Amino acid sequence: MATTHFSNVDWIVAWDDARRRHVYLRGGDLVFSGAEITFVGMAFDGTADTVIDGTGMCLIPGLVNIHAHPASEPFFRGIREDHSVREHYMTGLYECLCAYAIEPEWLKFGAEVSYCDLLLSGVTSLVDITFPYPGWVDVMARSGLRMFAAPGFNTSRWHRDKHHELKFIEDEAKGRRDFAAALKLIDALQAHPSGRLSGIVSPVQVENNTPEILVESRAAARERGIPWTLHASQSVVEFNAMVRRHGMSPIQYLDGLGVLGKGTILGHAMLVDDNSWVHWHTKTDVKLLGDSQTAVAHCPTPFMRYGTVMEHFGRYREAGVVLGIGTDTFPHNLIEDMRSAAILARVASHDGHAASTSDVFHAGTVGGATALMRDDLGRLAVGAKADLAVVDLTHPLMMPVRDPLAGLIHSAADRAIRDVYVDGQQVVKDAMVLTLDRQGAAERLAEGQARMESGVPGRDFAGRSSLEISPLTLDVSQIHGPAE
Ligand SMILES: [Zn+2]
Repeated sequence: MATTHFSNVDWIVAWDDARRRHVYLRGGDLVFSGAEITFVGMAFDGTADTVIDGTGMCLIPGLVNIHAHPASEPFFRGIREDHSVREHYMTGLYECLCAYAIEPEWLKFGAEVSYCDLLLSGVTSLVDITFPYPGWVDVMARSGLRMFAAPGFNTSRWHRDKHHELKFIEDEAKGRRDFAAALKLIDALQAHPSGRLSGIVSPVQVENNTPEILVESRAAARERGIPWTLHASQSVVEFNAMVRRHGMSPIQYLDGLGVLGKGTILGHAMLVDDNSWVHWHTKTDVKLLGDSQTAVAHCPTPFMRYGTVMEHFGRYREAGVVLGIGTDTFPHNLIEDMRSAAILARVASHDGHAASTSDVFHAGTVGGATALMRDDLGRLAVGAKADLAVVDLTHPLMMPVRDPLAGLIHSAADRAIRDVYVDGQQVVKDAMVLTLDRQGAAERLAEGQARMESGVPGRDFAGRSSLEISPLTLDVSQIHGPAE
């Protein structure tokens, strides 16, 4: 088994198991053998096949992204940044997903682009929530990422025939078929020869599934010892739909079904009962999440674009909620999401201490690993997986190097990530992805987006074009345009 020794590393973000937190180790060594870390400490005196001089570098654990839709979201670059529907309490989710559809054969190019972006920002573990499409398993396997595939299923889907109302079209038989297919795929992934692929049981949205299938699918995840994930409390529209049906918040409803607890990951549990956007009369949701040790995939980016924030990260953490970070949409840059999570917590709470850089880094590593029920990920410790990233401390954005994580999260982000290893295999070298074709996939993505946009008038209930739904940032000049 090949052994790699990082010697005399300027800074290592090492795991202190007794204190259950990351600490800085200065001038230390890190060794991995095969897929596993075998030494973190001072002055390793063993032998290794490869010795790497750690001068000018900081080693961090590979980041753990517990909520993303890598295949579909990049097709919305240029479309979703300013898009927001006031009649839906600002979320653009329902309008976008009702009016736009991506042909399944093109989704693999979106995934390839997103996986590259994620690897280049130091992500090594990824929860990929999608309706299965042709080529998915192949692109996951090629990527080199540690994948937690979440093949989705729903017993109803969204439908719009006017601006202010979201309707639901029931198709329980389809939901059941897709649930069975998802379990079959998950079981096959667990047996994949790479050892890097596994599955998560994923009814997609709380409002789009019957209580029976939520309970059954939760049990199927428990049987397999794997996590279960679901979108819940992600919009006021959803919150109100659940109140209309059940007279209670989505979180209270899930608690009543007995599906909260360890191994449950909710995206995004943001519009909870006492969030200021909701104005509901109870104040129990955050406590229910914390007491049950439910995990929340906090994905600040799509929500902050709508003007919505979690209220707030520090309060959830103090209540005992297992907090992890997800990118959800583009840009798939988990370091920027950690930064947004810290800053928005301070904005929402009017308190500069509501979430520290250390808190959000913990969420983006160990928090995510805990959500995934994996104590061998998100940390640099003996026995953990050799999933790690090299931060280039000589990058001008990292200098002066007084506090590497502060520099990485608040100044440099992905620009200082130089090399990435998953399972002891190098997947990024000198800021280039070794496993995938980033440029080629981006070109196909552009083609796929044009095809997607051309179908919008036929799908939108009002027959609008994509440009009418989401105008460009600037008008195209009639004065300086090409001569007719
Ligand atoms: Zn999502």
